[in-house]
Amino acid sequence: MTERELPIHHRASDPGGRVWSFGNVTWVHCPECDQAAKSTGASVSCAHCGYTTVPNLKPYSDKWAYPASSDPLCSHCRKPLDRRERPTARESDGKLFVRIRCEHCGETEDYPALPGSPPSGGRSYRLLHRYLETQVAGETLWVNNLVHLEALEDWLGAKVRERPADRGLTMMARLPRWMKASTNRPKVLRGLAQLRELAEKSGIDE
Ligand SMILES: [Zn+2]
Ligand SMILES: [Zn+2]
Repeated sequence: MTERELPIHHRASDPGGRVWSFGNVTWVHCPECDQAAKSTGASVSCAHCGYTTVPNLKPYSDKWAYPASSDPLCSHCRKPLDRRERPTARESDGKLFVRIRCEHCGETEDYPALPGSPPSGGRSYRLLHRYLETQVAGETLWVNNLVHLEALEDWLGAKVRERPADRGLTMMARLPRWMKASTNRPKVLRGLAQLRELAEKSGIDE
């Protein structure tokens, strides 16, 4: 990733758009390994441990599953695996498997599975927590992804901000007051720099 110069003394104009128009993904804590995983809203995938959910193409989810064995053991270290339902089901040769990462030895493996259902009331991503978050002035500063981060860096780091009157309620217009307050500006910019550092350390690339 290339170093960005902190854009302190420039002029910025509101790029328009709402928060969801910045980037295509939201980085979340992986439900299995807690590292940065990519959520598209329809599916979640983690490059660290292999956790992945299949995009929901049907109105109901038949992608959840739990180990078929009543006493499942890790095929690497032979320690017990828990039987909770997971959104990581996959089908191979007409048989259902569930991908589980062993909490004892860390190995990920597909195990024979039975179809399950999501937790009650649950789309899986309700349980997900945003990854790029930090505390600033007692508030939570967060971004979904690098495009979102860069837009905030440019806008809040600018000396002159131009908002054409006809832009409407864009993301920039809707930023919370504490974020826009000039007294908080240095803290907010430091917070954004921390998020960029976290993103680089965590392998976040979009
Ligand atoms: Zn993971
Ligand atoms: Zn194991």
